[in-house]
Amino acid sequence: MRLLVIEDEHKIAQALKRGLEQEHYAVDLEFDGEDGLATAEAEEYDLIVLDRMLPGKDGMQICKQLRQNGKHTPIIMLTAKDSITDRVEGLDAGADDYLVKPFSFEELLARIRALLRRPHEAASSVLEVGDLKLDPANFSVTRDGQPIVLSSKEFALLEYLMRNSGRVLSKDTIMSHVWDFDADILPNTIEVYIGYLRNKIDKPFKSPNLIHTRRGFGYTLKV
Ligand code: CA
Repeated sequence: MRLLVIEDEHKIAQALKRGLEQEHYAVDLEFDGEDGLATAEAEEYDLIVLDRMLPGKDGMQICKQLRQNGKHTPIIMLTAKDSITDRVEGLDAGADDYLVKPFSFEELLARIRALLRRPHEAASSVLEVGDLKLDPANFSVTRDGQPIVLSSKEFALLEYLMRNSGRVLSKDTIMSHVWDFDADILPNTIEVYIGYLRNKIDKPFKSPNLIHTRRGFGYTLKV
C-alpha cells in the first residue's frame, strides 16, 4: 500500500515516513500544500495523511479540492486544534478521519489499517484468499495453517495483491501502489518479486496456485 504524507514540519514528516516504512508501507512526502495537492492528484495513493496547517494551500482546501475533482482516496487529517467545530469542518471538507497532535503512532497505524480495510472486512483486518491468510496488524502470513516468512517488500506486494484479489493488475499499477518515488525500480523488478512470492506461497503447497499471469496484462491473485 502506498501512502502520501503532506506535512510541513520536516522532522514529523521524516519520522512518519520511517515509521510507516517499517510497517511495510511505501511512503512519499510533500512539505507544502501546493506540491501536496499536485502529487495527490497526479498519483494513485491508497491513503493520504494530511496536515491541516500547511504553507501554500491548507489541509482543508486540499481535501475539498480532491473531493471536488472526484478523488476518493481515504484521508486522515492531522491537526493541532481540537474543538468540535474543527473536527466538523475537517469531516465536512471530505476527510475520513481526524487525529489531534500530539498523537501516538500506534493510534495512527490503527486508523490507517481501519481505512484501508475493504467494507466487507469490517469485522476483521485479516485478509483471506482461499487457504492463504495475511494479517497486516502483525505481519503474519500462513497458507494451509503453515507460517510463511516474507521480506518487507514481498509482504507489501502480497498484501496489495490480496486486497485486490480477482482483479488483473498491470505492472505499472502494482509499481505505483507498492513502491515509492525514490525506490530503485528496474524493468523486471515486479516479475522478480512475483517470482519470489510464487516460490514462497505457491510452489511449496499442494493446493492450486493463487498467483496467475495474464500475459500482456499483468497479474492476478485468486483461487
Ligand atoms: Ca503544519
